[in-house]
Amino acid sequence: MSRVTRDDCAALDRADPLARFRAEFDLPEGVIYLDGNSLGALPRATSARLDQVIRDEWGSDLIKSWNAHGWIDLALKVGDKIARLIGAQSGEVVVTDSTSINLFKLLAAGLRLRPGRRVILSERDNFPTDLYMIQGLCEMLGGGHELRLVERGGVAGAIDADTAIVTLTQVDYRSGELHDMAAITKAAHDAGALMLWDLCHSAGALPVDLNAAKADFAVGCGYKYLNGGPGAPAFLFVAARHHDAFAQPLTGWMGHAEPFAFGPRYRPAAGIRRALTGTPPILSLAALEIGVDGLIAGDMTALRLKSMALTDLFIRLVEQECADCGLALVSPLAAAQRGSQVSFRHAEGYAVMQALIARGIIGDFRAPDVMRFGFAPLYLRHMDAWDAVAALSDVLASRAWDRAEFRRRAAVT
Ligand SMILES: *Cc1c(COP(=O)(O)O)cnc(C)c1O
Repeated sequence: MSRVTRDDCAALDRADPLARFRAEFDLPEGVIYLDGNSLGALPRATSARLDQVIRDEWGSDLIKSWNAHGWIDLALKVGDKIARLIGAQSGEVVVTDSTSINLFKLLAAGLRLRPGRRVILSERDNFPTDLYMIQGLCEMLGGGHELRLVERGGVAGAIDADTAIVTLTQVDYRSGELHDMAAITKAAHDAGALMLWDLCHSAGALPVDLNAAKADFAVGCGYKYLNGGPGAPAFLFVAARHHDAFAQPLTGWMGHAEPFAFGPRYRPAAGIRRALTGTPPILSLAALEIGVDGLIAGDMTALRLKSMALTDLFIRLVEQECADCGLALVSPLAAAQRGSQVSFRHAEGYAVMQALIARGIIGDFRAPDVMRFGFAPLYLRHMDAWDAVAALSDVLASRAWDRAEFRRRAAVT
């Protein structure tokens, strides 16, 4: 294969049909942001929209805004927009709470739909909060439910007549490896179990088709590829076929059939609204809507093509520029098998990443030794892959990472 040059990267940027979207983000000068998989970048339209919601809706119209500005339905409206990104229908997705809390609600609801089955099955390397929430739920139920953990690849074979729910994260947060959503969902259904997908590293990163795979439930983040801002509310999906039987345990008034009747008895609302619990965070929802609108405009099919091109380019440049510098590719080599990130293992990964961040190349680190580089295709350029690899190669060759300040662990890595 011929060498890739900086000019080649510039030419790819000139030919990029999505190039214009970069200008819609407020990215700081001198920074190459490869962490949109942890906290998406700030869309330029977000500040103006929040200012409008704060001054005109909250400030001027005060409580009238719940009706006048549609606040009471905003969680469903933004949910319908996210539905378009993940292969769901209108009315199957709602924005609410955090991913962790939504996992709790859906897992509990799933266990009620599969009485007599004791096991929630997942993989050992699933994202920790997913596993922790399952453990808390099983303990609380006190009825012999258990979390069964198997190695990746062993999931489909471990589903049996005792399995109530199988839950997995579609894109592995460390390696970026994709699960086969349709095949695993089918294996769960063949054994009579339900399937819950965590789409935290999928939504806004690649096209997802929940209904084509016949998924039962899904959850996902608002603050990663959806660009909703720090702590943005999460979303959850319940397939329409489950809506009537679906009963979640956090039965707050926002999920009630008539919240403003103020009756003493809980009665669930029809449809996805019954997945709600308390009052929605309107400012955060308004910010999330802007982020989601950007992805709809970008088109997930086009975004996926660019994402695969960027991650392929990054891997190829690392091979070309730092072949012998102690980096081991953790992500699948084939683009079709990875999400929108590339991870490398390095014995000093934490310090190397800190040295990169000091140079304005922002990725992140996941214990024990994985450096993650996320490629949000809406706002990254091919040239960014070039510049990031040039910096990485220099940091490794010069041992610039080998300083006490770069080894000191911060609270968030
Ligand atoms: C980021 C992430 C979460 C985060 O959950 P929160 O409740 O928002 O903190 C959960 N699961 C996965 C797979 C994630 O990547």
